[in-house]
Amino acid sequence: MIYNAISEIGNSLKDIVFPPRCAVCDAVLPIWTDKKQEGICPSCKAKLPYVEEPRCLKCGKEIESDTEEYCADCQKLNRSYKKGFPLFHYVPPVSDAVLAMKYKNRQEYADFYGREIAGRFGASFHKLGKDICLVPIPIHKNRLRKRGYNQAELLAETVGKYTGIPVRTDILIRVEDTKPQKELNPTERTRNLSRAFQVSKNIRLPDAVMLVDDIYTTGATIEACTELLKQAGVKDIYYTSICIGKV
Ligand SMILES: [Zn+2]
Ligand SMILES: [Zn+2]
Repeated sequence: MIYNAISEIGNSLKDIVFPPRCAVCDAVLPIWTDKKQEGICPSCKAKLPYVEEPRCLKCGKEIESDTEEYCADCQKLNRSYKKGFPLFHYVPPVSDAVLAMKYKNRQEYADFYGREIAGRFGASFHKLGKDICLVPIPIHKNRLRKRGYNQAELLAETVGKYTGIPVRTDILIRVEDTKPQKELNPTERTRNLSRAFQVSKNIRLPDAVMLVDDIYTTGATIEACTELLKQAGVKDIYYTSICIGKV
């Protein structure tokens, strides 16, 4: 009883010192209503840029015509993963918020975005196989040391929390801290990136993997990780991301 009271006071103090902020526009949320629990202000909630149908059957991007099955990129590029589940279009203010989550220490936003992904796609994820697990795209240890966290891992943890799907951070390792060069074409980017990752040896691999990343742009990172996982013996690979679009 007394511990509960103390912890409640502690939480209230924390809210005053570090007020909860909207995970989209960064406005301070009122701490005296239940609204803070949602992690978003009502005006942002009303205009979230969800990717809607019709979607590309491969990457999940919204397409204009429902007579097409695939987007222009997926018609011409090799995609080894089975299907993508991107949540939002990469447009402001969500795009700014996702960058702030990555570079400006807004780690707490991961809870909102993870909950959104779980709410929108959780049931579909469970249908993909009993053995499925969430695998965040890793960052190199030097970058992790500098930034202090991997935003994709925070996201995977919250998706895992709200869906009950296990998170595995021991499968994929980032061995090189590459910066993909803009002048490379998509195939070269994938080749360049596939040197940046490795699949751990001598561990039990699941049949199905849901890769988790914050932004899906060219798809080169997801493709590189998919190819490595397939070579290692994982049968089905999917991905989910907060945003899809051009950066
Ligand atoms: Zn807002
Ligand atoms: Zn596509």
